[in-house]
Amino acid sequence: MVFSSVLGFPRIGANREVKKAVEAYWAGKITADELKKAASETKKYNWSNLKAKNVDFIPSGDFTLYDHVLDHSAAFNVIPERYTKSKLSDLDIYFAMGRGRQADGVDVPASEMKKWFDSNYHYVVPEFSEKTKFELKFNKAVEEFKEAKAEGINTRPVILGPISFLVLGKADKEASSGFEPINRLNDLLPVYVQLLKELKDAGAEWVQIDEPILVMDSAAGLAKQYASAYSQLAAVSPKIVLATYYGRLDSNLDFVAKLPVAGLHIDLDREPKQLEPTLAAIKSTNIVLSLGVVSGRNVWKNDFLASIKLGQKAIEELGQQRVIVATSSSLLHIPVTLASEKKLTAEQKDWFSFALEKAEEVAILAAVLSGSQDANVAAALEANKKSIDARRKFESTSDDAVRKRVAATTDADLHRKNLFPKRWEAQKSHLDLPKFPTTTIGSFPQTKEIRAARLKLGKGELTQQEYDDFIKKEIELVVRFQEKVGLDLLVHGEPERNDMVQYFGEQLNGFVFTQNAWVQSYGSRYVRPPIIVSDVSRPGPMTVKWTSYAQSLTKKPMKGMLTGPVTILNWSFPRADISKEMQSKQLALALRDEVIDLEKAGIHAIQVDEPAIREGLPLRRVDWDAYLTWAVDSFKLATAGVKDETQTHSHFCYSDFNDIFPSIQRLDADVISIEASKSDMKLLKAFNEFGYSNEIGPGVYDIHSPRVPSEQEIKDRIAEMIKPIPGHLLFINPDCGLKTRGWKETEAALANVVAAARWARQTY
Ligand code: GLN
Ligand code: ZN
Repeated sequence: MVFSSVLGFPRIGANREVKKAVEAYWAGKITADELKKAASETKKYNWSNLKAKNVDFIPSGDFTLYDHVLDHSAAFNVIPERYTKSKLSDLDIYFAMGRGRQADGVDVPASEMKKWFDSNYHYVVPEFSEKTKFELKFNKAVEEFKEAKAEGINTRPVILGPISFLVLGKADKEASSGFEPINRLNDLLPVYVQLLKELKDAGAEWVQIDEPILVMDSAAGLAKQYASAYSQLAAVSPKIVLATYYGRLDSNLDFVAKLPVAGLHIDLDREPKQLEPTLAAIKSTNIVLSLGVVSGRNVWKNDFLASIKLGQKAIEELGQQRVIVATSSSLLHIPVTLASEKKLTAEQKDWFSFALEKAEEVAILAAVLSGSQDANVAAALEANKKSIDARRKFESTSDDAVRKRVAATTDADLHRKNLFPKRWEAQKSHLDLPKFPTTTIGSFPQTKEIRAARLKLGKGELTQQEYDDFIKKEIELVVRFQEKVGLDLLVHGEPERNDMVQYFGEQLNGFVFTQNAWVQSYGSRYVRPPIIVSDVSRPGPMTVKWTSYAQSLTKKPMKGMLTGPVTILNWSFPRADISKEMQSKQLALALRDEVIDLEKAGIHAIQVDEPAIREGLPLRRVDWDAYLTWAVDSFKLATAGVKDETQTHSHFCYSDFNDIFPSIQRLDADVISIEASKSDMKLLKAFNEFGYSNEIGPGVYDIHSPRVPSEQEIKDRIAEMIKPIPGHLLFINPDCGLKTRGWKETEAALANVVAAARWARQTY
């Protein structure tokens, strides 16, 4: 008999109950006990629904109030001293690590967050040093296992493996130079041993230990550590299924197949080709193979026949009792259920599977592979075939004009007419900007009033005309403010945008929007990514109306503001039937038309934001070049259609560029703005060493905090910046958009920015 398994479930609740409860707790509106109760409700919802769908291996311990990596740090006492000093409750220390705390005399910043592998989920980075005192402060895995058991549900607890936990962390400030978290493996293992023993005593038969770093190049050097760690753990543990996901094991398979584990999970959604080598590697062992065929990363319905083929191949080699059908990864990246969507058409609904529907898919696949004769199973198989056929038929009706246009793009379309130095001259006289020009990244405070107006428009309480008039007033306010404070290159402030991806998606052909398909981005912040379902094209201008209105109000140059193709793609659910490259180029062509329309409307500076270009990097280095080639080409395709005198800008939030400088240069944006206020000057030195040649605006202050930087601080910053970067290439701007800020601090901060830039003009 083939079993089914789900590696992890969304932990946000079907109606975002967890966000509401957590935020109510932060606001002091509910107690810790009430929060715990709300969490229990969601856990129960998850477990009982997975059981109702007939999933055999139901996860527990995957739930979290903030982040699952942070859960491990808190449970293992990996807590920097700055948080424990304050004598807060354990729960408040936990949240302080996640989001910082500034109340009742306690003032600690949040721990660093990083993108979780190549997803848009962010985890809280654990901090280790020689001094970290590992200890099992509480056993969340056991508690939740028992909690489920009390509900009559037998679960397979999930924990993050010790090696991934260490490798995903960083050295804290206390650590001596050269310290690597992995050095502490032997001190951490006893904690895992204790945890697993307790799990076994509590009656857990299996445990799922996640080691996602096994799909990364960096794991190749850790074979010894894996062998020693897992022999210690396996000796005391319930049966271990070692879970890898988001990528392929490649050569790491050599040592993974020799680990003393009872089961191995591989991602066959992303990497179906790794089935054969894995089968060969484990055939002569007793290892059970968990086939991750149902995608934990996309929202498309599983193609049962394709999955069954993979399953049969595994059964041929290993026999039924050694095969499990599973989701490819945790379903944390997937919305909870399609049942909440009331506005999708029946045809669209038939294309997708969200988390609950995916759970049902693994159960049905397992039944089919077990040889079930059940009429319901046969009917489900038949329905799936129909639905996949219908989708394939839809896919074959492509938009010929778009396809032809992508096919006809040439190298010339990717290049500006002249090289940067010549463009720089043209732009200088055309835009008439002073030395050290000041600008902002685009958005101004998204006030309560703006959000209320948008809501009212949605409910029909405002007419389109009334809403447009309101937006115009907001734009005027922002323009007048910028003139008054003395900024040089203005923006319209983006008041009309709900979100930098959704705003464009809603105006393009090829996207579908959901009502309730939230996924966790970090902590209590959830996003609702649009879904790309067909070829993308632009029916008409998307931003020209607002940008030219803003320009009409002022003599100063106005910068147009667009989201780039790679970022729109990365922050949407892409199609699975055509390549990302194809989707990115379709988006690029749509944006190219917008850029040219802006230029025609008299806008001579145009910013195309690509904050997600780095997060899209493939997990394996051998795959980087292919990605960077089409990602950079897409940006160029979007922006290169303008005249020399039109200045193109781009913006990146996470600026860890160390490995990708050549690609940043190849974008050939006239100006880039980057997040630099938090990093030291190392980043700018690296730009210099690389020989970056175009203009650059390193953020002069951090917009993520309401703190107002003093004029002197900004002057000091500029004085530092000018050492590695030639003065004539410097722009002066904040770190990122101001949409999350209030007006008060925005006004004060930008006044100081302008004063510091004026000082720089006189000084240098
Ligand atoms: N132009 C956008 C803004 O200012 C950029 C946001 C981002 O980088 N994430 O809000
Ligand atoms: Zn940014």
